[in-house]
Amino acid sequence: MRFKDVIGQDEIKSRLVQAYKENRVSHSYLFFGAPGVGKMALAIAFAQYLSCENKQDGDSCGVCPSCQKYEKLVHPDLHFVFPYITSSNSQNKAVSDTYIDLWRPMVNKSPYFSYRDWTNNLQSENKQCQIYAAESAEIIKKVSLKTYESDYKVMIIWLPEKMNTDCANKILKILEEPPHNTVFLLVSNNREDILPTIQSRTQPIKVLGIADEPLKQALVDRFGITDDEAADIVKISNGSFLEARQQIEQDEENAFNFENFKSLMRTCYSGDVISALAFAKEIAKLSRERQKSFIDYCLIMVRENFARNINSNVAYLTKDEDAFAKNFSRFINERNINNFITIFNDSYYQIERNGNSEIIFTDTAFNIMKIIRK
Ligand SMILES: [Zn+2]
Repeated sequence: MRFKDVIGQDEIKSRLVQAYKENRVSHSYLFFGAPGVGKMALAIAFAQYLSCENKQDGDSCGVCPSCQKYEKLVHPDLHFVFPYITSSNSQNKAVSDTYIDLWRPMVNKSPYFSYRDWTNNLQSENKQCQIYAAESAEIIKKVSLKTYESDYKVMIIWLPEKMNTDCANKILKILEEPPHNTVFLLVSNNREDILPTIQSRTQPIKVLGIADEPLKQALVDRFGITDDEAADIVKISNGSFLEARQQIEQDEENAFNFENFKSLMRTCYSGDVISALAFAKEIAKLSRERQKSFIDYCLIMVRENFARNINSNVAYLTKDEDAFAKNFSRFINERNINNFITIFNDSYYQIERNGNSEIIFTDTAFNIMKIIRK
């Protein structure tokens, strides 16, 4: 990852490059700020820059042997520490590297990921993730070895606030006086939860939200949405690429649900049994979570269409939904609104109870046929 691939944060990038050029790279930095603003991206880009054999214009080159290894996060002088789960019997001496094959592909895919993304990956369910005491020996061992290929050895510690006290105490000394050209890069979502003894040994770098313009551009480039759509999303994303991405995914899910809702209503209105069966078969192919999301959406749509039928000014609908509702809303009235809600609630309940989705959606369609023209 090169600095140019980090979204925005120009001021911090040039501060880091400047520190290198003036030969005053600190032995430990603490990048802290809200999730999704690019702290991990900055840490990786900085590490790659330090190690690059052909630095140019304030960035790594992206093509030298070191950069090539960094692009896959497999450089032997780059180490990661992150929270993980360990079994309750202490015989299991899991460390971060135990999970490196889950970690590396996730970070490679995008250095913008959430804590939830990681725990989902770990399938940790409700178990507490921590950086356990066993990790301290690993950290000390790794930084004590001489560098393999690069001038710099870098250890990125993600979420130092999840480090238990035992581990923290054991690494204080090495954090304060690491071997020559070793750099610790700590990446934290909650600085106030980090032990003060750790904090005091690091140079803090506060990472604020991504500025509007680079965030907007990144959304246009990466998701193929229009300038206007991106600008709307930026407004509600608090400078977080993660929040913006979630919003886009939500919008995509809504658009998908809207198409299916229209299709279901048209099928039911026309009384076309063959299409209803085909519809149920298609919807049943989705994951259960998406089936439930669709039913949730249907519930919102029937309520909003009812509201619009009563008074066209009160419904909360997008432009496309409203265009559909203009003709459709008259079919949702005081005689059938409760039936609609009952039908969808029942479907939801049965999906949740792992009923046969195809049968459930077939029933749903047939039940709607009975009431939609009343
Ligand atoms: Zn390079």
